[in-house]
Amino acid sequence: MARYTGAVCRLCRREGMKLYLKGDRCYSDKCAFAVKQYAPGQHGTSRKKVSEYGSQLREKQKVKRIYGIQEKQFRIYYEKASRQKGVTGENLLALLERRLDNVVYRLGMASSRVDARQLVRHGHFTVDGKKVNIPSFLVKEGQVITVKEASRKSPKFEAIAAAIAHRNAPSWLELDKENIVGRVVSAPQRADIDLPINEQLIIELYSR
Ligand code: SF4
Repeated sequence: MARYTGAVCRLCRREGMKLYLKGDRCYSDKCAFAVKQYAPGQHGTSRKKVSEYGSQLREKQKVKRIYGIQEKQFRIYYEKASRQKGVTGENLLALLERRLDNVVYRLGMASSRVDARQLVRHGHFTVDGKKVNIPSFLVKEGQVITVKEASRKSPKFEAIAAAIAHRNAPSWLELDKENIVGRVVSAPQRADIDLPINEQLIIELYSR
């Protein structure tokens, strides 16, 4: 699966918000967006009038960049969301939230979604006792996410175990901090997803 390999802090500056793509650095004073709160490039500081299409496009780009999804895959999520019952925009965000890499990040088992994706790819997690190394795997209600026994003693996961003590999982997930085990309590609702996104704009863009 293709992925963006350029400078990630540019993406935050382009979208005009912190996308939290670099883990701990995002919370420090080294965050590039905290220093330069304008778009990158020669015309970054000039104000431009944004068209309706432009704001719809930016909203889509924000979501794609937050979750690290490429266009083709994102459209597949949109089509799946539009076939489900309910509000398509909310369905879309709920699908993205249920990705295993996002769940690992939300549980505090990785410092960012990028980090989570790599850890999943390297096979450090199990879902209901079975190794899953597919970041886009969609977790379901009741499933249990655990760090593989062999991975627990690595310095990386010892650091995660220490950091997890200060993390709180969103209400649709349950976290056993002592054993580093997560459980999906329910499907994520829009109120559980703390992203400043107007998902309706994305739906309008795809409905053009
Ligand atoms: Fe974005 Fe994090 Fe870079 Fe700050 S440090 S600009 S939040 S990726």
